Amino acid sequence: RQTYDLVCDAYRSLFDRLGLPFVKVKAATGSIGGTVSHEFQLPADIGEDRLVLCPHGHFAANVETLNGEQTSCPTCGENLTRTKGIEVGHTFYLGTKYSSVFNAAFYSPENKPQLAEMGCYGLGMTRILAASIEVLSTEDSIRWPSLIAPYQLCLIPPKRGSREEEEEGATLLEQVYNDLAEVLPHLAGDSVLDDRTQMTIGKRLKDANKLGYPYVVVAGKRVREDPPVFEVWDQNAGEVLFLTKEGVIELLSKVRVP
Ligand SMILES: [Zn+2]
Repeated sequence: RQTYDLVCDAYRSLFDRLGLPFVKVKAATGSIGGTVSHEFQLPADIGEDRLVLCPHGHFAANVETLNGEQTSCPTCGENLTRTKGIEVGHTFYLGTKYSSVFNAAFYSPENKPQLAEMGCYGLGMTRILAASIEVLSTEDSIRWPSLIAPYQLCLIPPKRGSREEEEEGATLLEQVYNDLAEVLPHLAGDSVLDDRTQMTIGKRLKDANKLGYPYVVVAGKRVREDPPVFEVWDQNAGEVLFLTKEGVIELLSKVRVP
């Protein structure tokens, strides 16, 4: 039973690190059986599971587990709220349900035969990918949890033949990358240069939003200033910053990659 709780804690810290808004709910044990079971759910309108939650966090359950209509929290009496969820993890504490049938026993330190206690656990790996995009994205941009984004950073140099290009915008952006590779080598392989310079910056920025890079650095109009200023899209914070090369590197030094 202690191991069961440890695995639940590990799942909890995994979803915390991914920055996903999850709830751990009491779940039906179904045909697997056992005495205790929990699901890890991401609340979302398209979810297939129906959940009831105490707004203060005392109680959370899949409706499958309720006997009849339960409308208030057993701890604080507050009205329970209903939501739909996408199941991304499931844990079962089986106890001795199977070990007693197979007589799967071991000897305790006191040399007495004891039935093994069992549990089974599962994370939906591909479902976590799809579900996190579902709950984090906006209407026109994909957002990944930073830790599992395919690339952290997209660099967009000026359009070919533009005034920014004449003023060496592309070279300045290259310097950002070179400095970045030196100071933050772990990000160097996590960066993409969108050198389709026949396209406008706007078009490439739109594509970058669709692919969901957490950060996009653009050599736009203000790259002609002294010192040059880059346009930085911080997708997860939903803001645009104007930063010098040093500012870009300072911002990106906070990025955690696995
Ligand atoms: Zn409550």
